[in-house]
Amino acid sequence: MLNILFPKICIGCSELLVGREETLCASCRNALSLSCHHRRDDEAFKRIFYGRIPLQNATALLQFQKKGLTQLLLHKLKYKNQEKLSAFFGAWLGAELSEIPSYQNIDMVIPVPLHKKRLRKRGYNQVTGFGKEIAKALHTSYRDDILVKKRKNNSQVFKKRSMRFQATPVFSVVNISELEDKHILLVDDIVTTGATLENCAQQLLLSPTTQLSVATMAIA
Ligand SMILES: [Zn+2]
Repeated sequence: MLNILFPKICIGCSELLVGREETLCASCRNALSLSCHHRRDDEAFKRIFYGRIPLQNATALLQFQKKGLTQLLLHKLKYKNQEKLSAFFGAWLGAELSEIPSYQNIDMVIPVPLHKKRLRKRGYNQVTGFGKEIAKALHTSYRDDILVKKRKNNSQVFKKRSMRFQATPVFSVVNISELEDKHILLVDDIVTTGATLENCAQQLLLSPTTQLSVATMAIA
């Protein structure tokens, strides 16, 4: 009955979803270019952070291509209220990571936070569903109360200033003792230059006994 009144449609192509399809139809799902570093050597991802931050594991579910389906979906997730894509990608990657030995000792999943003004405007952090589903799959906790964003980054300023400026702390850790001896999985939507993840990682790794891995929906 609900399906007749509110037919479920694919967020990628707007076709009707059939059978057990959720969020994306099978053909859109098959059209996505997978990155999945956890299934092979993840050095290609880690290389972005060589000499910047030490990582245990690093993986992305999707390979970002300009004007591709991944770009469309990430845009809808961030700007068109398609929040459920977040959990969809998280459940997908979580199922994968639950079978990878090096992800079994993760102690908590922490999302890259939004500034509270941005959070109020968008109404949700686009990484929340993703992180929660991964935490569930790895039987660990999801903590969005440890890492906070202190100030907004002004994109105009960011483009013009040097890397040194970008490295000034935008994020901070609320209770660093909670990170002691923990293996953290930091999650975000997309990694491009890695500046955001590096910024977060620098704060989390102020705790000297903490180990860090990262997982993103996509890599550019
Ligand atoms: Zn579709």
